[in-house]
Amino acid sequence: MDRAQMQERLDRLIWRVEEARIRRSEHHIVKMVAVSKYADEAQIRMLYDLGQRAFGENKVQMLQERVDLLEDLPIEWHFIGRLQKNKINHLIRANPFMMQSLDSLELAAAMQKRLAEQDVTMECLMQINSAKEETKAGVMPEEAEEIYLMIKEKCPNIDLRGVMTIGAHVEDEAMIRKSFETTYAIFDRLKGEGAEICSMGMSHDFELAIECGSNMIRIGSLLFK
Ligand SMILES: *Cc1c(COP(=O)(O)O)cnc(C)c1O
Repeated sequence: MDRAQMQERLDRLIWRVEEARIRRSEHHIVKMVAVSKYADEAQIRMLYDLGQRAFGENKVQMLQERVDLLEDLPIEWHFIGRLQKNKINHLIRANPFMMQSLDSLELAAAMQKRLAEQDVTMECLMQINSAKEETKAGVMPEEAEEIYLMIKEKCPNIDLRGVMTIGAHVEDEAMIRKSFETTYAIFDRLKGEGAEICSMGMSHDFELAIECGSNMIRIGSLLFK
């Protein structure tokens, strides 16, 4: 992919985001994280050069490699994948701008311990399994508020900024919408607790997510595939 093609993809995407956000509200602002798991280093540099600053990776090892390879650029790195407890120290070393996939109280407690040992903090989003899919990580919707508050109370080194979800993996648009609405309703109730970020929407469902109130989308395939 050359620069002109990348520019065209980015422009088309930004235009679609713009139209979706205005359907929600003129005042609604959406941030895009470019998920670079399908991209090579040259493509990431190209997109950075076109103005994109936030990038996401779903594997700790890949994140670390890219943090190192691209350390000359002030990229804002997001970790969006499943984190095994034995990789917590690796993630802390990679030091992402934000960890979006805090998916259980157990993981939060384990992270709290490691973060406190190293006297550092990490901005995180709590992941919600909004369609209750067995294959997906995240806290169940009915426990989400309680767990969010417990993490806030018990984990002072975790700076909780909001919630994240992956839309239902089905064809039926009504079901995908429902998973986003479920997540937004939880986010809305947590605003009083300081939640500011509702991260939902990927390449195939970001417009729907934005219409349901998402203010952070994570786009991979549409940019890089
Ligand atoms: C890969 C991935 C994305 C991006 O998915 P696309 O469909 O390629 O846009 C977003 N969020 C998470 C958690 C991912 O793993």
